Amino acid sequence: MRTAGRNHLYVPGPTNTPDRILRAMVVAQEDHRSPKFPELALSVLNDLKKVFKTTAGTIFTFPASGTGMWEAALTNTLSPGDKVLCSRFGQFSHLWADMTQRLGFEVQVIDVEWGSGVPYDQYEEVLRADKEHKIKAVLACQNETATGVTSDIGRVRKAIDNANHPALLMVDTVSSLVSIDFRMDEWGVDCTVAGSQKGFMLPAGMGILGMSPKALKAMETSKSRRCYFDIGDMQRSNVNGYFPYTPSIPMLYGMREALDTIFEEGLENVFARHEYLARGVRAAVLEGWNLKLCANDEQWYSNTVSAIVVPEGFDAARVISNAYARYNLSLGAGLSKVAGKVFRIGHVGDLNALSLMSAIAGAEMSMLDNGIKVTPGSGVAAASTWWRTHAPNEG
Ligand SMILES: *Cc1c(COP(=O)(O)O)cnc(C)c1O
Repeated sequence: MRTAGRNHLYVPGPTNTPDRILRAMVVAQEDHRSPKFPELALSVLNDLKKVFKTTAGTIFTFPASGTGMWEAALTNTLSPGDKVLCSRFGQFSHLWADMTQRLGFEVQVIDVEWGSGVPYDQYEEVLRADKEHKIKAVLACQNETATGVTSDIGRVRKAIDNANHPALLMVDTVSSLVSIDFRMDEWGVDCTVAGSQKGFMLPAGMGILGMSPKALKAMETSKSRRCYFDIGDMQRSNVNGYFPYTPSIPMLYGMREALDTIFEEGLENVFARHEYLARGVRAAVLEGWNLKLCANDEQWYSNTVSAIVVPEGFDAARVISNAYARYNLSLGAGLSKVAGKVFRIGHVGDLNALSLMSAIAGAEMSMLDNGIKVTPGSGVAAASTWWRTHAPNEG
């Protein structure tokens, strides 16, 4: 059966793709070894540096998703048996820790309550105690998408520096880059992992990895087996504007257009817009519906995704399935430990206040359908009051 009207896509990735980016991707295929090709490739690789806020680092792209870049970061810099410090407070930080272990590295995991973020002080303690510098890398998830928790990467850097520790800092920015401020050079991030389908507003399919000079240096002594994700191969082709294998041409044109879109709005304005929109959503949840966020303290609130806890005795999965079936609204599911307990509203990418209103209204209708006693209209009222009385960029 045909469903009229657009699907209201409010999962935290893939996100809505602006029409101009969709159009930019409808292109004839072309020769990726042509003399003209490097123009496109080099412009994309160079301009990506601006959104990573790096001049010292090098950006690599792979036909992959963010998960592939987790692997590339680890295998290009570490050797089997190397010790890695990480923390787990949601499904994505869990999966990266799990991958690190499965790839043969020795993982020290600090488990943190889901709803909190990177344990800065514990990181510092562990690193201080590691007098022989056995720990070779420290992992941090800037935005834990499963719980809607953002950590302060500057504070992670500080923890490492306070301990005077030489470990590499690897950061997952898959659901934060281009939406929440990230500063690769200033925060001394060595490996930055990103993907195309969240803040970049593109389909999934391009993994993006930022490598600092220190990370590239670590590559020289890293003994991990790698082939497809070998950065050395990539680097040798990239310097001339080519790739060691066939790149996705539409994806490169899409990324070119996405970067132009972002620069036209202004990167800092994009961050401000995400914060402004997120605050309206939080007003709906906390003041309108009187519900709780999974993020258990203001310091962790995410500007790209809110995980909303349904009251005891209700199943969040039914709120989500009903919203889809009845209102053509896609909400994010509760993953793993929080399955059935939370639903998520993704507020990342190409959005404005009124497009987000559909997510708030639809979530509210679906909660009411499921017997959750929120006051009809309360979420919309709280969000509208917030958005009407504030502006982005007001500081
Ligand atoms: C989406 C996401 C990933 C996984 O990325 P894929 O592109 O699906 O492989 C990793 N980390 C975080 C924080 C994410 O939000």
